[in-house]
Amino acid sequence: MDCTKCQSLIESFLKQSLSSTESDEFITHVKGCSECYGELEVYHMVNSVVSQLDSGNEEDDVDYKASLTRMLTRAGTQNRRRRFVKYVFLTVLVTLFVVIWFLIRGFVF
Ligand SMILES: [Zn+2]
Repeated sequence: MDCTKCQSLIESFLKQSLSSTESDEFITHVKGCSECYGELEVYHMVNSVVSQLDSGNEEDDVDYKASLTRMLTRAGTQNRRRRFVKYVFLTVLVTLFVVIWFLIRGFVF
C-alpha cells in the first residue's frame, strides 16, 4: 500500500469500515510510515474531540496517542480473530462435505 492509498483510507479505518485485509495492510503501512501515522494521529484526535463535543462529556486529559495505539492493537487482534473464525468455518465445512460424501458412497455401493 502506498501513502496516497493509505491516507485515503484513514477515515474509513477510523469508522471501522475497512475489510480485514484492507485494515491489515493499512495498519502495516501506518506502523512503518511516520508520515501516514502522523496524519492518522491528527484525524484520530479531531474525531475524538468532535465525538466528545457531540456526547457532551468533555475530558480534559485525554491521551490521544495512547488511545490510537490501543485502537491499532485492537483492530489487528480483530482481524486475526476474523481470519481464525473464517478458517475454522471452512475446515468444518470441508470436513462435513467429506463425511457426507463418504456416507452417500457407503450407502449407495
Ligand atoms: Zn505512508
